Amino acid sequence: MSELAIIGSGIAGITSAIYAKRANLDFSLYEKKLPCGQINYIERIDNFPGTSYGIKGMEFSQILLNQINDLGIKIENKQITGIEKTKTGFRLHTAAEVLEHKAVILASGAAPKNLGIEKEAQFAGRGISYCAVCDGFFFKDKTVAVVGGGNSACEDALYLAGIAKKVYLIHRRDELRAFDYLARQVESKSNIEILWNKIVIEIKGGDFIEEAILQDTKTNIKTTLRINALFVAIGYKPNTQIIRGLADLDYQGFIITDSEMRTSCEGLFAAGDCIKKTVRQLITCAAEGAVAAMSAHSYIKHK
Ligand code: NAP
Repeated sequence: MSELAIIGSGIAGITSAIYAKRANLDFSLYEKKLPCGQINYIERIDNFPGTSYGIKGMEFSQILLNQINDLGIKIENKQITGIEKTKTGFRLHTAAEVLEHKAVILASGAAPKNLGIEKEAQFAGRGISYCAVCDGFFFKDKTVAVVGGGNSACEDALYLAGIAKKVYLIHRRDELRAFDYLARQVESKSNIEILWNKIVIEIKGGDFIEEAILQDTKTNIKTTLRINALFVAIGYKPNTQIIRGLADLDYQGFIITDSEMRTSCEGLFAAGDCIKKTVRQLITCAAEGAVAAMSAHSYIKHK
C-alpha cells in the first residue's frame, strides 16, 4: 500500500504531486487521458503569474511536464473506475487491477456540458464541437456559432473570429456572464454577432451540420441559422462519478470540501475543477492542489 493516490493530472493534480514530492510522500499520480487535461485546450493564458503573457495552453502543459519530470514524478496512465473505503485506506479499481493507498486526492476536473438536444451526439465531430482550440482550424473562412455567454464562450468566439469568416454568439439572456474585458472584446469584434435571448432547439444537416434552429426565449419565435459548425461552451460537469456515495456532492455533482480541501470522507481530499467553488481559474486549482497535498501529508503522518 502506498501513501497517497492523486487522481488527475491537470494543474490541481500536478501541483498536488509537486507538493507531495517535496513532503517526501510515497505517491502515485494517475491520469486516464491526456497529461495536463483541459490546459491543453486553452488558446492563451494571460493571468497565471510567472508565465509569459498569452502563452498557449499546450506550451504551458509542456512547462509543467518538464517541471515534474525534473522532480522525478511520473504520470501513470490508468483509469480509476471506482474507489472503495477500507479500514486502512482506499482501494482504487481499474479495469485490470486494484491499487491500495492510505489517502486519495481527487483532482479529476470537469468535462464540457452538452446541450441535451436531439441529434447532438449524431453531429458531434460533424460540425458540433466542444473545443474551439481543437477544431476551429477546420472552419477557416466559414460561418460558425458558439453557444454560451460565459468566459469560455467569449474566449472561443474571439479565437474563432481569427479563423472563421463570421461567428455568431448565441446566448440565452441579454447580458453576458463573462468577465467585462472579454465581453467588451466580443462586442467590439466586427465579425462576431451576438444573438441575444436565443437557445438552440434543433440541429439539421446531412453528413455535416447545416442549420441550427433557434428559439427566442422571450417571444418563442423560431429562426433558422445557416452555419458550418456549432461550438458548445455552456459550462462543465464535474468528473466525480467514482466517488458518488463516498463523499458529499452538491446538486450538480461538485465535491464539497472545507478550506483544507478535506471531503466528508476521511482521508479523501479534492482539488481543482471537480470541487464546488466560485472562482474557477488555473491559479485557484493550483492553490487547492497545494493545500490538498499538505492536508493529505498531515493526515497520513498523524494517522
Ligand atoms: P459558465 O461560466 O458556467 O457559463 C456558462 C454559460 O452558458 C452561461 O452564460 C450560461 O447562461 C450558458 N448556458 C448554460 N447552460 C446552457 C444551456 N443549456 N443552453 C444555453 N446556454 C447555457 O461556464 P464557462 O464559461 O465554461 O466557465 C466555467 C468556469 O471557468 C467559470 O468559473 C469561468 O470563470 C472559468 N473560466 C475562466 C476563464 C478565464 O479566466 N479566462 C476562461 C474560461 C472559463 P447563463 O449566463 O444564462 O447562466
